[in-house]
Formats: sequence, C-alpha cells, structure tokens
Amino acid sequence: PRLANQIAAGEVVERPASVVKELLENSLDAGARRVDIDVENGGIKLIRIRDNGIGIAQDDLPLALSRHATSKIDTLDDLEAVATLGFRGEALASISSVSRLSLTSRPRANGSSVSTEDAAPLIQADSSAAEGAWKVEAEGRDMDAKVSPAAHPEGATVEVRDLFFNTPARRKFLRTEKTEFGHLEEVVKRQALSRFEVGFSLRHNQRTIHSLRPATSLQDKERRIAALCGTQFMENSVVIDVEASGLKLWGWVALPTFSRSQADLQYFFVNGRVIRDRLVAHAVKQAYRDVLYHGRHSAFVLYLELDPANVDVNVHPTKHEVRFRDGRLVHDFIFRSLHKALADVRP
Ligand code: ADP
Ligand code: MG
Repeated sequence: PRLANQIAAGEVVERPASVVKELLENSLDAGARRVDIDVENGGIKLIRIRDNGIGIAQDDLPLALSRHATSKIDTLDDLEAVATLGFRGEALASISSVSRLSLTSRPRANGSSVSTEDAAPLIQADSSAAEGAWKVEAEGRDMDAKVSPAAHPEGATVEVRDLFFNTPARRKFLRTEKTEFGHLEEVVKRQALSRFEVGFSLRHNQRTIHSLRPATSLQDKERRIAALCGTQFMENSVVIDVEASGLKLWGWVALPTFSRSQADLQYFFVNGRVIRDRLVAHAVKQAYRDVLYHGRHSAFVLYLELDPANVDVNVHPTKHEVRFRDGRLVHDFIFRSLHKALADVRP
C-alpha cells in the first residue's frame, strides 16, 4: 500500500499548496468556523492547520489516514461524484505517505455546534481542553499509525512536516520557499474569498500574513477583500449585485482607475467554487471592451450563484472548469450585468 499511496500522492500532492488545499477543504467540510494555518519554509518544513470543526472520534483517527477512508459518502449520487472526482478518501493517506503527518482531534461534544463567538484565534486556545483528545501519527506510511492521548480543544489539527522527505525526486521539483509560499497563500486566499463566514489566519515563519475575522455585512466583506486583494482594488471598484432568470451575480469589478500592477486579480466563483472558464472570461472581457474600449487587465472578484442542476462543476477535479447547461444565458447575463455596472460609472 505504501507504493500505491506514493503514486496516488503524485496526483494529489504536488507541492505544499496542494497539501493546504486538501487540509483546508477537510476543515471546511468538518464545519469549522475558524481555521488557523501556520507554515514554515514555504510549507516544506511545516504545515499546521487547526480548526474548530466537528473533529474525529478516537476510533476513527487511524482510519482517517488509511486509503479510501472517507466519512463523506452516503448516497449513490455521492458515489457518482467519487467516480468523477477520483480522490475521495485519499488525501490524508497520500499526504502521510510523503511526509511526517500527525492528526490530533477532540470530537465536538454531542449536539454542541459552533457559534460565531467561537471564531476567535485557536492557536493560543490550546491547554484549556486537555482531556478527551487523541493524536495519531504516520511517517511516510500508513496502516500502522499509533494513537496516543493529547491536549486539544474541540476540532482538529493536522500537522505535516518535511514534505517529500522520503521522495527526493519529487522534492527536487519544489521551487524556492518564496514561490511555494506564494502558491500556498493563493490557495488560502481563494478559500477566504469564497467562505466569508469563516475566520482564517495565515502565518509564515512566525509572521502573521493574514488575519481575517468572519464577515457577514457588506462592510466586513469589503474589509476582507481589501485585506486579500489590496485597498487599491477596493477603492477603485464598483459593487455588482444583479439577479435575474434564476441567476445571481455579485461582487466587485475594478474601474479603469485601478492601477494595473495586479493583472492576475481575477477571481470568479460559481456556487462558491473558484473556476476558470472561457465562456465566463469572454463575457467579462467583452463587457470591459464595450464600455472602456479595452479588455486587458480587467480585475474582479465575482460570485455567480445558480441552481446546481444547471451547472456541472466536476468536469475536471483540478482544472476548475465548469459546464453550464445554458451557456448562452449565463454568458449574456454576466455580460449585461457588468456592462451596466461599468457604464453607470463611466467617467
Ligand atoms: P475525504 O475528505 O475525501 O473524505 P481525506 O483523506 O481528505 O478524505 O480525509 C479522510 C477523512 O478524515 C474524512 O472523511 C474525515 O472523516 C476525516 N477528517 C479529515 N480531516 C478532518 C478534519 N479537519 N476534521 C474532521 N474530520 C476530518
Ligand atoms: Mg479531503
């Protein structure tokens, strides 16, 4: 199983950023309202993610690290999603096969749910809850993970040390600490941009890079956008909020006054998932070109919401592609919404 896991790991784990992506998704799946991310040396030496989600029961801890162990498949529909997505239940096993991984958790007490007050930073909240927590460790393999008592508040912490320590060939492909951190930060950014209700923090080599409180009001959300995308963007953009024919588009688009240094500031979420799609890109570009006479360097953070039955987000698990049932309708809706918003503020 070790070799198989390392091969599977090649698909899931390419670099520290892919580890962070999987761990973040797990924390959010577990209903966390607060996620604290601590990394060292671009994530190569250490990635530690702590959440206040439902946690994992002692008996389930070793299972969580074994292959195809997922707690998330209940229905036939889910099984079909597995067939398309491929990686279900493999992330932790794959990551642990190429690193020194530990998983510490205290399951949430029955019936207790996380309130927004629980969104305070968790890093320091440690010693208050010493009982009822367990830790499982694996080093470059799985199945013989040992479980021991630990101190931990409700929720889970996954620690990944020395990524690719036992696969030097893969380790060679890692770039500089700075580059790896850049990729990793991008992953965190995307999640923070799509999950406003969750508090996030990101620290690199003991330095706080992002500290984001849960955001509910428009003002809170704009504060988060400013923190992640820069105040320049926030001050030079217009708010979009349009709803028609079962489609809703909201977010922010930059005005021509926005300085063009961040040409890659283009985030488009469909039902909460970041995507890159030609049809969407075309609609946005066309609106800019029509109103501002150029489509270059458009910058935006946009959220499209529609009936999940009208969009297939599983076209490819990692390429962030989608397929709309009615592409024409979606294209025209995006184009018209942006066109109007931009034209309204044209100098
Ligand atoms: P998947 O997410 O596809 O189920 P993973 O390998 O990522 O597979 O995780 C395996 C299992 O470990 C999950 O199904 C879940 O039960 C448990 N798990 C992982 N991370 C967490 C977490 N942060 N909180 C609670 N449970 C977790
Ligand atoms: Mg997972």
